Amino acid sequence: MMRIDILTLFPEMVDGALRASIIGRGREAGLIDIRCHCIRDYSPDKRRRTDDYPYGGGQGMVMQCEPLARCLEAVKAGAPVHTVLMSPQGRVFDQARARDYLAMERVILICGHYEGVDQRFIDECVDEELSIGDFVLTGGELPAMMVADAVCRMVPGVLAEEASFADESHYAGTLEYPQYTRPEVWRGRPVPEVLLSGHHENIAGWRRQRSLLLTRARRPDLFARLTLDKRDRKLLAEAETPPAEK
Ligand code: SAM
Repeated sequence: MMRIDILTLFPEMVDGALRASIIGRGREAGLIDIRCHCIRDYSPDKRRRTDDYPYGGGQGMVMQCEPLARCLEAVKAGAPVHTVLMSPQGRVFDQARARDYLAMERVILICGHYEGVDQRFIDECVDEELSIGDFVLTGGELPAMMVADAVCRMVPGVLAEEASFADESHYAGTLEYPQYTRPEVWRGRPVPEVLLSGHHENIAGWRRQRSLLLTRARRPDLFARLTLDKRDRKLLAEAETPPAEK
């Protein structure tokens, strides 16, 4: 079973958010095991301190090594588990990395806070620093929740069927086609006719075409990495043919 341990100063915040909706149901059903641990519980300090002023001066507080290391050691209990520190300085998270974690079956996510984490803990105990994008948040809790969500929704049984995510943006290197639901016409905007046709092959072709066009327009970097087959090239060529010639 996929197990994710999250080390944080705010376990209620993380645990609460990951009890809602699809991930919450997956946990209830025993498909995923998410455990949130309070770093403060491992502080050797009697006032349960976990941070202190930075050496060399400067703004803010720095998370100390010892509470983090003790918490991590207790969670690992001697097992060699891949340990990830949420950090804006890390490699940027993506769907491929989410799949890697899924394959690992167990991962530990550590949430930094304040100005960050004492570098010696990172050097000694962390296997990977992971960022969720080029911006800075107040803590690693939201990033860890995002990673847990992205990984857990791929666990078999958590979503209704695998196709739910296999088609989606980024899974196969493309952005997903547009989606529509009832009513058939909304404020004068009709649903594309092909989707009402019941013709599965045409619908699949239209979706693939839209997905390729969207990826090419919005994410030329992803598009450049795709391997297009004959059908893909035909779908793209059809999109470029003026309606009268079709
Ligand atoms: N002083 C640090 C720096 O400039 O790199 C930023 C620390 S940030 C205010 C506090 C914590 O939030 C970090 O230790 C990290 O755990 C988390 N965090 C902030 N932005 C993040 C991001 N983009 N991705 C992952 N974690 C982030």
